[in-house]
Amino acid sequence: MIALEGLTKRYGGKTAVDGLTFTVEPGRVTGFFGPNGAGKSTTMRMILGLDRPDGGSVTVNGRDYVNVPLPMREVGALLDARALHGTRTARNHLRWLAHTNAIPDKRVDEVLRLVGLESVARKRSGTFSLGMGQRLGIAAALLGDPKVLLFDEPVNGLDPEGIKWIRELMRGLADEGRTVLVSSHLMSEMALTADHLVVIGRGRLIADVGMREFVRHSSGVLVRADDQELLTARLIGAGASVEPGPEAALIVTGLAAGEIGKLAMEAGVALSELTPQRLSLEEAYMNLTRDSIEYQAVVA
Ligand code: ADP
Repeated sequence: MIALEGLTKRYGGKTAVDGLTFTVEPGRVTGFFGPNGAGKSTTMRMILGLDRPDGGSVTVNGRDYVNVPLPMREVGALLDARALHGTRTARNHLRWLAHTNAIPDKRVDEVLRLVGLESVARKRSGTFSLGMGQRLGIAAALLGDPKVLLFDEPVNGLDPEGIKWIRELMRGLADEGRTVLVSSHLMSEMALTADHLVVIGRGRLIADVGMREFVRHSSGVLVRADDQELLTARLIGAGASVEPGPEAALIVTGLAAGEIGKLAMEAGVALSELTPQRLSLEEAYMNLTRDSIEYQAVVA
């Protein structure tokens, strides 16, 4: 588990991470989502103790990661796969990491097999494609068999096959009971990968919500009724939000079409239209950032 408490980071006069408080639970993939510059990488660096917070705290499995004697056994991280030294072979790179963390050599061959790099283990990593470099970075993250894994934008620049592979890998790691935090600036990617979603914008927490819940809130229902005023009151009473839609229709979010139909029936309101309208997740995110306070109230 990772726990952040009021985590804050400033660069010069600018606040990059602004009082973040949330936990990342084991056994699921938590998506860490926000536009470029939102503060995802800075947060991840602070979790790893690579950057010192200006306020608040972060613990990994209950303690400061900085004070962990053999860090690779506690947390595995893929930060920037391009920051690789190219002169060592893949195998030697991993053996060197293993040595400094008291990890047996045989684990190196295990992780090379796990990420599908056995055949190129004796090639210099500088000759690797982006996808192979990414696999090597993941091999390093897995080396210490850690219970907590961080992936910062792992699918950037990968081909569809590599993307699918990383998704399945993260799913498998979560299913083994590990804590998995993966960042992305692409909501479509999050939707396919994450069970839970932490959304930040300008360094602040915008939402901490289950993926299914988020998707539910991202789909509205277009409703036309004979007494829209009465229905609107009932819908709001049931926790939905109601906005004006096209041609005097209502757009209802927060309730499924079936629930709306039932409420209308109970209120004696006749419906002439009840049509689910799926927003794209990107649109949902735009709504979420626009009405972040309102949305959090709904989720809570
Ligand atoms: P993300 O990973 O979500 O794209 P970052 O954490 O990289 O966001 O950046 C958050 C903000 O902090 C940005 O405005 C960025 O310019 C700034 N920032 C990040 N690292 C540094 C640094 N080392 N020095 C100065 N500013 C930084």
